[in-house]
Amino acid sequence: MLTSVVTGGAGFLGSHLCDLLLGHGHRVICVDNLETGSLENLAHISGDEFAFLNHNVVEPIHVDEPVDYVFHLAALASPVDYLRAPLASLKVGSYGTHNALGLAKWKRARFLISSTSEVYGDPQVHPQPETYWGNVNPIGPRGVYDEAKRYAEALTMTYHTQQGVDTCIARIFNTYGPRMRRNDGRASVQFINQALEGKPLTVYGDGSQTRSLCYVDDLIRGLYLLATSGEHLPVNIGNPDHEVTMLELAQTVIRITGSTSELVFEALPTDDPQVRRPDITRARQVLGWEPEIDLEEGLRRWLKALGREPAAV
Ligand code: UDP
Repeated sequence: MLTSVVTGGAGFLGSHLCDLLLGHGHRVICVDNLETGSLENLAHISGDEFAFLNHNVVEPIHVDEPVDYVFHLAALASPVDYLRAPLASLKVGSYGTHNALGLAKWKRARFLISSTSEVYGDPQVHPQPETYWGNVNPIGPRGVYDEAKRYAEALTMTYHTQQGVDTCIARIFNTYGPRMRRNDGRASVQFINQALEGKPLTVYGDGSQTRSLCYVDDLIRGLYLLATSGEHLPVNIGNPDHEVTMLELAQTVIRITGSTSELVFEALPTDDPQVRRPDITRARQVLGWEPEIDLEEGLRRWLKALGREPAAV
């Protein structure tokens, strides 16, 4: 039986990854300090193949059994969280990644880091291929996340080239779906909750900034394919077909929920990227991966998981 360690395994993406790995017959050791993750995301899992370790990856990670894969997903990934806890964000990206790589080296395991489209910052190349170096403000409010992830990529490549660790780097673009934390603050979950509660949807700026949204099941399938490939260079995982403005996203959520909520416009956060869309040519070529679930279908699935019926179109 293969054994996988998933840091951040109680979080939104981490818990879905635990499910997929268990489905593929892995033993899964979930490492999470529950800062932004929740045991609720794991409540449906039982059996000896699953173990939970309440641990902050900023401290060294000890596992007393063989490990085949280390999936390092632990992070404060929402802008709301990394602005609330900037030092913790820098530490989990730096010390946390160092410790997770140390575990992979010790166990001779394949290592996957969940990097981010934020390494491209406010991009001046559109869509973003992996060869684009990005446009990041290192001392701006988002720098604590963006630069920690950029450092994490540098550290990961160095462990690969200098220490012989078998590593891969997933650059994850905006993802949505069941188990996103209610107060996570990201646009998709914020809009869904506001629409369901009949509250105004808070569109920041004029809402013309774009994001490309990938449904969680597609994303997790991409991570697994990358981990089980022989690839070492970064690979974008995201949905290029669903680049929408935040205004369009808010309107789509209102339509699909059948909500009567209005829109309110609030200040645009500092350094908020104007556009974002992955070039997934590499994922197609190297992994044979592409997303299958379109935005409206994904939003409907999410609503059903929340126990709500989507509005008839
Ligand atoms: N946003 C918004 N209303 C909200 C939350 C976010 O208009 O209630 C905007 C935010 O300014 C950004 C986009 O939605 O332009 C995506 O933000 P999110 O926090 O989802 O993730 P990001 O892609 O910025 O990391």
